[in-house]
Amino acid sequence: MKSILFSTTATPLQLAAVRRALVSAGAAGVTVLEGDRTAFIISDPSDDIHLDDYRNFPGVEGVQQASEKNQRVAHTAPSINLESGIEGLTVIAGPCGIESEEQIATVYEHLAKEGLRFVRGGAYKPRTSPHDFQGKGKNGLVIASEIARDYGLQLVSEVVDPRDVEFAAQHVAIIQIGTRSMQNFPLLKEAGASRLPVLLKRGMSATVEEWIGAGEHLLVAGAPAVIFCERGIRTFESITRNTLDLLGAAALKERTTMPVIVDPSHAAGRRSLVIQGALAGIAAGLDGMIVEVHNDPASARSDASQALLLADFSRLLRLTRNIREALSIDSYSL
Ligand code: PEP
Ligand code: MN
Repeated sequence: MKSILFSTTATPLQLAAVRRALVSAGAAGVTVLEGDRTAFIISDPSDDIHLDDYRNFPGVEGVQQASEKNQRVAHTAPSINLESGIEGLTVIAGPCGIESEEQIATVYEHLAKEGLRFVRGGAYKPRTSPHDFQGKGKNGLVIASEIARDYGLQLVSEVVDPRDVEFAAQHVAIIQIGTRSMQNFPLLKEAGASRLPVLLKRGMSATVEEWIGAGEHLLVAGAPAVIFCERGIRTFESITRNTLDLLGAAALKERTTMPVIVDPSHAAGRRSLVIQGALAGIAAGLDGMIVEVHNDPASARSDASQALLLADFSRLLRLTRNIREALSIDSYSL
């Protein structure tokens, strides 16, 4: 796939001149990408198009032979609206695990009042120890999805076994793939085939390139959107649970038209650092966040130490709105 990138100051007349030249050279399937800047993506047939011929047109900033390998991640836009909570962002919150009807109802009621559309809750919990709470499975998905629906909310939940995708797809709006499963290719295939958007956590030891490849697998399999989620990686540093790689996430945004969000909870590992991580992600230009919130963190059966109190989550939303107002995120594009 070949593309022609325009400078942010390119005029409509300059765009039209390049388009005319491309069409008369035989390019078909020229699509326009509206993002930080305009790009013409020449999809088919492009063998006769010599990119160097277009380099010196006024308004053209550069030409690119995009890698064929990850073309969907690079060029397709989500075909589904993913806005939740704050205009232009995808904000997802809720407990680590689905524990009881009372817990879910209390948390979701609060999140609905805060204007969220997507809420989380794990039914299949991948735990380090087999002796720890493993999640409520199918029953958990039924409980959480019904309560979510009562509040006008939609569920985001992790699936770890390809055999559970079909059932989960009847109860969730977004399938979550956890850090431990990022390169479980049979699972990615099954999740993509469900035709639901997929929230793809970065593998804790995965490079951004490997993460992109996993996203491409999902899109090839049929997912209408991939929400890439930076949740921290393994490094020598142990003062936080994981090392939040915000520039890795920002670098991914240069490579994809899909949303990239931050999970400050699993990076921080403790409540006192969650708000900082979330705000830093938004300030870095990311497209949203997924945050663990609990009505009674002390009693949480998984990830208790990193769960925000309901009131703290409300404060985080207020601060996020302030940051969005204060920063002109557009100014980050060079
Ligand atoms: C989770 O979201 O609760 C979870 C298990 O996340 P991760 O896969 O990032 O560890
Ligand atoms: Mn968790």
